Amino acid sequence: MRLSRYFLPVLKENPADAQIASHRFMLRAGMIKQQQAGIYSWLPLGFRVLRKLENIVHEEQVRAGHIPMLMPTLQPADLWRESGRYDDYGEEMLRIKDRHGREMLYGPTNEEMITDIFRAHVNSYKDLPLTLYHIQWKFRDEIRPRFGVMRGREFFMKDGYNFDIDYEHAIHAYNRHMVSYLRTYERMGLQAIPMRADSGPIGGDDTHEFLVLAETGESEVFYDSAITDLKLGDRVIDYDDWDEVAGICREWTTPYARTDETHDEAVFAAEVPEERRRSARGIEVGQIFYFGTKYSEPMGAMVTTESGERVPVHMGSHGIGVSRLVGAIIEANHDENGIIWPEGVTPFHAGIVNLRQGDAATDAACEALYAGLKARGLEALYDDREERAGAKFATMDLIGLPWRITVGPRGLAKGVVELTSRRSGESEEMSAEAAIERLAEIYAPHRGTPVF
Ligand code: ATP
Ligand code: MG
Repeated sequence: MRLSRYFLPVLKENPADAQIASHRFMLRAGMIKQQQAGIYSWLPLGFRVLRKLENIVHEEQVRAGHIPMLMPTLQPADLWRESGRYDDYGEEMLRIKDRHGREMLYGPTNEEMITDIFRAHVNSYKDLPLTLYHIQWKFRDEIRPRFGVMRGREFFMKDGYNFDIDYEHAIHAYNRHMVSYLRTYERMGLQAIPMRADSGPIGGDDTHEFLVLAETGESEVFYDSAITDLKLGDRVIDYDDWDEVAGICREWTTPYARTDETHDEAVFAAEVPEERRRSARGIEVGQIFYFGTKYSEPMGAMVTTESGERVPVHMGSHGIGVSRLVGAIIEANHDENGIIWPEGVTPFHAGIVNLRQGDAATDAACEALYAGLKARGLEALYDDREERAGAKFATMDLIGLPWRITVGPRGLAKGVVELTSRRSGESEEMSAEAAIERLAEIYAPHRGTPVF
């Protein structure tokens, strides 16, 4: 993408109403525009990141054997009356009437709708296990929308629902979700710690939240620092292997890690040596639940067992806050000059800065570099504007591409360009070909579905 033809409405000033780094940088980097409290347009740069996250979520869900689909944002109130949640959900639910006076709502989550789909089409244990998911906009009329996309009213969420014949199968589905979520966050360059949690309005007994550590997090968390050493890396996981999947979950849930809702100081002190006890702030980026027959029973989602019995299906639901993650990643990856994207989620792989726009040789070198990166499947943002070098560098630092290639007449005379890491600030001179090769190597482990 050439910056001269892109839409990147960068702000020079710090927006007054943005209290935290991610909100400030998302506005300044031209990623989002607020349209109403808690409701945002995703401008092109922000949209690219959102799509990258969405792709990673899809890839990891499909890898775990879960099936993508899409449900609507608007739901009929009657479905929610069946589960009893229409009255319980309260002011957070946006209730709407259509021209015929029919009551509808903008979905805050989809347990009722997916249960309705299931009961319409599935009858037998032979069709189980089944896990369906979608990534769709949700609306919750939060009393205090704040921190930009972190606590919005309209937000983008992956929600998945498992249907299983009994408790044991449902717990395997729960474990599968935990492991696929750990992989998902790791690919996004995040460490998200599974923590025992309270179930809230979804209901149920078994539930974990995934928290990213960050000073601006809304939750208080307590954990054994040993958990921060765990990594899945490129471990190959057989999601059909119950023991393997349960083993990974055990590994990640054995060290103490709880939010303030479930924290128990006595257990913390007894289980964790003092030098490993940590308390910090965390951002909730996902939650998984097993809730058994809470929805299937009242809504009549029944299956016939092998012995011919009719039983309500065991369910769980599993959410990832895709739009919140954009903010969470920035909270965990920035400095005073702007964002520092992890390689797995960066909107562009590299930025090209032309130090002498209009100089024929420099322009030609930049064009060749741009084409060379593209040929290797790497997306570059080429700053081809007639701007001072300082302004170009400031824009690149603000939008946070992990790698910048600087091209100028002085380097070209020596046959080199400069490759700079946004994270370390370190630069290295090398030929343009070597820079392309280096980036191809760096991004090899981060190859997902191309975004656009
Ligand atoms: P919170 O406690 O932060 O209000 P929640 O527990 O009510 O969230 P869930 O029902 O667990 O939310 O939804 C799954 C995920 O969706 C959450 O883990 C979070 O990442 C995301 N999410 C929930 N509410 C919002 C919101 N208002 N804005 C952005 N993301 C949200
Ligand atoms: Mg939650």
